[in-house]
Amino acid sequence: MEISGETTVCVLLGYPVAHSASPRMHNAAFAAMGLDWVYIPWAVRPEVFLKALDALREIENFGGANVTIPHKEAAFAALNELSPDALHIGAVNTIVPRGRILVGHNTDGEGFVTSLREEAGEEPRGKRVGLIGAGGGAKAVAYALARAEAAELAIFSRSQDRARSLASHLRRLFGNLEVLALGLQDIEPDRLRRIDVLINTTPVGMKPSDLALFDYKMLPESVLVCDLIYRPSETPLLASARSRGCRVLNGTGMLLYQGAQAFELWTGEKAPVPVMREALARGEGA
Ligand code: NAP
Repeated sequence: MEISGETTVCVLLGYPVAHSASPRMHNAAFAAMGLDWVYIPWAVRPEVFLKALDALREIENFGGANVTIPHKEAAFAALNELSPDALHIGAVNTIVPRGRILVGHNTDGEGFVTSLREEAGEEPRGKRVGLIGAGGGAKAVAYALARAEAAELAIFSRSQDRARSLASHLRRLFGNLEVLALGLQDIEPDRLRRIDVLINTTPVGMKPSDLALFDYKMLPESVLVCDLIYRPSETPLLASARSRGCRVLNGTGMLLYQGAQAFELWTGEKAPVPVMREALARGEGA
């Protein structure tokens, strides 16, 4: 990769950013498309995040940004222009400059739904979905599944207030959707048998010391079990599900397709998805 005075610069705004797989994925995509663009991770402490946004408004060769933990909600609050997805999800994961105006988008939910369709061959329409967790990732995934006409969403959350507030937001937006706000203790065999797709949106499973969210031995083999986590590539939830005969999907596809959509918003070019997938696979275990 050669950086010149003409290079357009994209950045990842997060804290920390050291372990992100996005630079490898986007730089491979820029190179494959012959674009004089580069993607750089920026570790931005929360207290200076707004200053970083102000600086980006002034930089003429700024091509766009991704926003990750812990800034997605701060970016939503700070940006005056938002895509409908970002507006309804309440968080921004992608910024697109238009002159000095920064426009906030959210590609996480569509990224998950595309991964569900492309990697697991599952169409969300009419499906009964169980979501574990009610944080930022859950909001994006729930909104995209509702838009894709899932029939029912059961939200299992440690903080039931968060589940209730997400459920009432979704009911307001999608009149036909059946939404339930439940606790983690409600994940039991009868309930699991009523679910087609179960999705972990919590960080539980990233660390070897994490306790199980529920007794994974209860999983019926009819459920497609998904995890937003992509490192490790197989969480204890997915390993148990697989050993019980369930189909499984990890978070790599979501990362890939949210990135592909961001790439298209920044460059106006079709994203080279196979190149991006290959770049992510090269980094697995790194
Ligand atoms: P977040 O906004 O902080 O939400 C985390 C959720 O997990 C909250 O509902 C929280 O519940 C719950 N939770 C945390 N620890 C828990 C525990 N020990 N037991 C039960 N529930 C627990 O985080 P996020 O941004 O949604 O990210 C969540 C995960 O998704 C992370 O692992 C992240 O890497 C992954 N993610 C992946 C992608 C991708 O592209 N693959 C994209 C986005 C996110 P409380 O409200 O009770 O604290």
